[in-house]
Amino acid sequence: MIRVAIVGGGIAGLSAAYFLARKGADVSVFEQKYLLYGASGRNSGGLTAQFVNEPLIKLALRSLELYDRIQTETGFNFLLRKDGYIKIADEKNEDALKNEVDFQKKAGVNVRIVDPDFVRNLFPDINTQTFTAAAYFADGGVVFPWPVIWGLAKGCRELGVKIYDYTPVRVEVKGNEVLGVRADSELHKADYVINAAGAWSNEISRQAGIELGNRVFREEICVTESLKPYLDPYILDVSTGVYISQSMRGEIVGGILGKEAEEVSVKSSLDFLTAYARRVTELVPKLRGMSILRQWAGAYDVGRNGMPVIGTTKVKGFIQLNGFGRNGMSLALAAGEGVAELVLKGKSRIVQPFNP
Ligand SMILES: Cc1cc2nc3c(=O)[nH]c(=O)nc-3n(C[C@H](O)[C@H](O)[C@H](O)COP(=O)(O)OP(=O)(O)OC[C@H]3O[C@@H](n4cnc5c(N)ncnc54)[C@H](O)[C@@H]3O)c2cc1C
Repeated sequence: MIRVAIVGGGIAGLSAAYFLARKGADVSVFEQKYLLYGASGRNSGGLTAQFVNEPLIKLALRSLELYDRIQTETGFNFLLRKDGYIKIADEKNEDALKNEVDFQKKAGVNVRIVDPDFVRNLFPDINTQTFTAAAYFADGGVVFPWPVIWGLAKGCRELGVKIYDYTPVRVEVKGNEVLGVRADSELHKADYVINAAGAWSNEISRQAGIELGNRVFREEICVTESLKPYLDPYILDVSTGVYISQSMRGEIVGGILGKEAEEVSVKSSLDFLTAYARRVTELVPKLRGMSILRQWAGAYDVGRNGMPVIGTTKVKGFIQLNGFGRNGMSLALAAGEGVAELVLKGKSRIVQPFNP
């Protein structure tokens, strides 16, 4: 039986574990803290296929199918709503958005340009003076990240995957071949080690003797007190970087797209809160005076060329599954499925374009 050790209990690591275990592999997942510690437990759950690159679009469309399938297979409700994902843009960014949509349509994405009134019909409180055009992806939406991780973990355990939390590991290599991972003094031998360590992937890769060079980002986010549910789609303003959606509990979940950081950090800041409050109340004036209940931050990694890094390396048995940037919830289920195929069959068409 093939033994696989996965570093990282986020969506990427757990998805790979799930699909590997379904095909009979002996899988262990190692998480340095608790399962929601990484970006997978700290994100805004927006699901989209609005990318400007065909391989990413394929991963995203496949991931949307897999959300439905895994919910059924695991009997776990991910609180997934496919009520649409909308990118809005001001005059300066309108042409770029339109070009993007032309490309996406040709790649088979169910997306179209709509005017501000269309968006106001879906969300009456939006200030239509702040944007001139919008791209509406009807099949996208929002998922609650925590149940995604809990559901995947449940599915994994039922398939016999061993999940070790509070277990930081190091990769061990002998010559040009992976030996396994070491937790304290114990070596867990494996035929394959998968680096799904998100923002920590550079460090894990270095342990295998490979400079990965992923860039690290930090993004801040917050939730307001609850309002009656009335905002169905996920809305991202590409001109200001502000995004909002509404959770099932009625909170407005929102943030500002992340910035590159020197090191992995999950510290939150007052600067974010003031910038977000200013921008979001221009976009939705009715939010003025609402209380923020919680704010937090998360870190994610972006591959050197802006793309995820998925595939085999010069070290036999050492596999990269990282670099998902701000789109891991949209992409990583299919990436995990692809990596399982790569390990068990030696190749996978869907992840091949991301080969390091
Ligand atoms: C504020 C915010 C908003 C976002 N919004 C969206 C969104 O709307 N849509 C979207 O698609 N994506 C979004 N993202 C991005 C998304 O969250 C990430 O792309 C995705 O979660 C990455 O998953 P991952 O499994 O690669 O990494 P992670 O979830 O970070 O998992 C990696 C895990 O590896 C563990 N680890 C690291 N080192 C070790 C070690 N030595 N031993 C054991 N374990 C280790 C870490 O503790 C971590 O839990 C957002 C991210 C943030 C922060």
